[in-house]
Amino acid sequence: TKEATINESMVRVFSPENDDIEILDSGRSITDVIDTKMKELDSRGKDEPFYVLKLDDILEKHIRWITRLPRVKPFYAVKCNNTPAVIRMLNALDTGFDCASKAEIELALSLGVTPDKIIYAHPTKPRSHIRYARTHRVNVMTFDNEEELLKISLTHPQAKLVMRIAVDDSKSLLRLNAKFGVRLSSVSKLLECARRLNLEVIGVSFHVGSGCTGSMAFKQAITDARYAFDIANSAGFQMRLLDIGGGFPGREDFTEVKFEEFSEVINKALDELFPPANGLEIIAEPGRFYVDSAFTLAVNVIAKRVEDTDECSGKYRKDYSSEKMMMYYFNDGVYGSLSCLINDPAHTKAVDNSEPRYYSAIWGPTCDSFDKVTKSYWIPELHVGDWLLIDNMGAYSLSTSTDFNGFERAHIYPVVTITQLTGQNLQSFRLIAPSIILLLHHCNREI
Ligand code: PLP
Repeated sequence: TKEATINESMVRVFSPENDDIEILDSGRSITDVIDTKMKELDSRGKDEPFYVLKLDDILEKHIRWITRLPRVKPFYAVKCNNTPAVIRMLNALDTGFDCASKAEIELALSLGVTPDKIIYAHPTKPRSHIRYARTHRVNVMTFDNEEELLKISLTHPQAKLVMRIAVDDSKSLLRLNAKFGVRLSSVSKLLECARRLNLEVIGVSFHVGSGCTGSMAFKQAITDARYAFDIANSAGFQMRLLDIGGGFPGREDFTEVKFEEFSEVINKALDELFPPANGLEIIAEPGRFYVDSAFTLAVNVIAKRVEDTDECSGKYRKDYSSEKMMMYYFNDGVYGSLSCLINDPAHTKAVDNSEPRYYSAIWGPTCDSFDKVTKSYWIPELHVGDWLLIDNMGAYSLSTSTDFNGFERAHIYPVVTITQLTGQNLQSFRLIAPSIILLLHHCNREI
């Protein structure tokens, strides 16, 4: 059938040897996959955490991106989640990649990304990483200070440079501008330095902060970028690249501002301040946007302590009114996939049933008390061996997890469930995935 054809071909694109992508035929859902994995693990006496990665979620996000932000080419931020299947998928969809280190560049290149599709978007780089970039023909990179320019002039003098400016990030979960970005008042001086060193500055970049909650931050940042562009143009640089960074939401359930609102503000600001002109390229560096909702994490309750209220410490006693307090220990925590909790508190949903609930604290598996998932959560009773699902786990989870205390990182099971590529969807698919279409023709397949 048409569905089967598309699925098979996608596997060919995304799954040479090591990715092990599972294709869901029309009768099976993600829930079925998760169920099967849990049962498999239980039957083998195993209880490690695992992820299910829905690759078609990424495809849907991409369709949304190119529909809403047609002038802005996405360069996926590899730091957010470096799972090979994600990078292959996005490469097949012809996005670019934002890499922040030698290892990220190496990974992208090893998965078939060409160097012209990479921006080395870290304003403060080790010299050895810059040399690696030069050797592998990754030429576009960011900077925000004079020392960096000096380093680049000695290690990669032909680089095409993008000046990162500091912008207002006060509306973001993860603020970046105390650490990165030249202030607007210092732009002229920095460009003079680039001129003295005979370096080629081609563009301006910014980042409004990860997990941005106010679309107007983009309007102000684009206005600031225009100001920096004008200074650079009058200093004689041939400015041709604007990079509007990340900050886009990757989930819909709790963010107040939707991607569509961001894109509306961005399009308007771009049309006003950077009207389409020959040679101007506009890119962005979305990370969360592409991966957050594509990953669901399954965790296991590996241990449990029940404390009578009388035995609880005074600290807890004042907070609750149930007769017992539950302490659960999951097989994944703050040193693992839930490292994102350090910056981004858990958003728990109300449990909709009539079971009695208990005041519960949830801990990660390590011996460290910093490893706390949530401290006050009213939920029905859980039991050792129970599996729980946590959705929207694709951003800054795997990439920042460790194996502290010997607890393994969660395994990833990528799946493809594209079963309804019809009508407009199919049309978008044809437009955005020339490499997949090419491959289909190569295999004598039709869609
Ligand atoms: N680009 C740069 C330079 C970043 O530092 C980050 C995140 O820290 C990103 C892109 C990804 O942004 P986001 O997490 O908002 O998707």
